[in-house]
Amino acid sequence: MNIAATLAPPSRTDAPALLTACPSCGGGALAQIYAQDDVPVSSCLLFDDADAASKVERGDIRLAHCEDCGFIFNAAIRQGASEYSERYEETQGFSPTFSSFHKALASELIERHDLHGREVLEIGCGKGEFLLLLSQLGENRCTGIDPSAHPQRIVGIEGAERVTLVPEFFSPELAKQHFDAIICKMTLEHIVPTLDFLRVVRTGIVEGSRPLVFFQIPNALRILRDAAYEDIYYEHCSYFTAGSLVRLFEKAGFAPLRVLHQYDDQYLTIEATVGDAAPIDTAEDRAEVARLAATLAERVAAKQDGWAARIAQAAQAGHKVAIWGSGSKAVSFLAALPRPDQIAAVVDINPNRQGHAMPGTGHAIVGPKGLTEVRPDLVIVMNAIYRDEIARDLAELGIDAEIAALEGE
Ligand SMILES: [Zn+2]
Repeated sequence: MNIAATLAPPSRTDAPALLTACPSCGGGALAQIYAQDDVPVSSCLLFDDADAASKVERGDIRLAHCEDCGFIFNAAIRQGASEYSERYEETQGFSPTFSSFHKALASELIERHDLHGREVLEIGCGKGEFLLLLSQLGENRCTGIDPSAHPQRIVGIEGAERVTLVPEFFSPELAKQHFDAIICKMTLEHIVPTLDFLRVVRTGIVEGSRPLVFFQIPNALRILRDAAYEDIYYEHCSYFTAGSLVRLFEKAGFAPLRVLHQYDDQYLTIEATVGDAAPIDTAEDRAEVARLAATLAERVAAKQDGWAARIAQAAQAGHKVAIWGSGSKAVSFLAALPRPDQIAAVVDINPNRQGHAMPGTGHAIVGPKGLTEVRPDLVIVMNAIYRDEIARDLAELGIDAEIAALEGE
């Protein structure tokens, strides 16, 4: 099917006024470093068909770099434009690579901070997978808050009896009780008023308690270094490096304990608490961030041209191209292609995504078995960390395709 031919023209939205103050520090010394127009505002939403998917609301990306604190954010963001609801399907839990990382992360946190039989709060818990691990491995009592949570999906799973999922947006009222650990994974990057949000979390901490505060977000330094444009999308309005993250936590009244880079450098984690703590070496990175930010747009353009040429070449040779992964990276990748119709298939191992349509281009999402009909000659892997896992799956399906992955420059 020629997908581009079925597409309605993108619904243009009026260009929004740009934010003029840094949401993390309030500073006004902002440099515009990257722009992309008319991208889907929601990249994890499931659509029933190509028509609905192509009519997804669109918005602009105008990344600004704050010269005061090093924070990078989409200055054109319209708060509330992205939908986070039951239709939001973001889980990576179907990947063995991700599952083993997730389990190791849970055991490590439990051991290092003696989280056994404790009270744990997770803000932005998604489908509750991490809380289930904390319950199973440490018998912790867990509360998870997320508008896209499906409380009924965990019923009957081991450890679920200690996990309560609240399908709502986070509010201070939900936090005002004693917690031993407050966890927030892959959520802060979706939040526009970063400092206000952290101050709300800080205010909710019961006086006299010193909970572990653990945040995990994408590592913007890797995105900048690799010109990883697939990781720049509308839902992610906030981009932190170690330096800007530590500065934000300090400004909001937390005491950072340590910062780590994990998952092949893709994730950045911070552990903090309140009260006195030895100051950590923040790995001052403002100069490097400024240098990389200044050349981001031209390096991204070169990469995008490279992929467009490679895919066009394959199409001219009569070869079929599939992309593996249908999440936000794939939405970004497709949005930047001049001819998305040259992609014959989009594959995802998450059965909840299969049979739905990609926001923006409307490609139907198929399971790995669907590739046996398409027989692709080239499979482009959206996240290089899954390359080996995908190569094994392709071999099992008897598909002899060239595998390429989005990775560093
Ligand atoms: Zn700032």
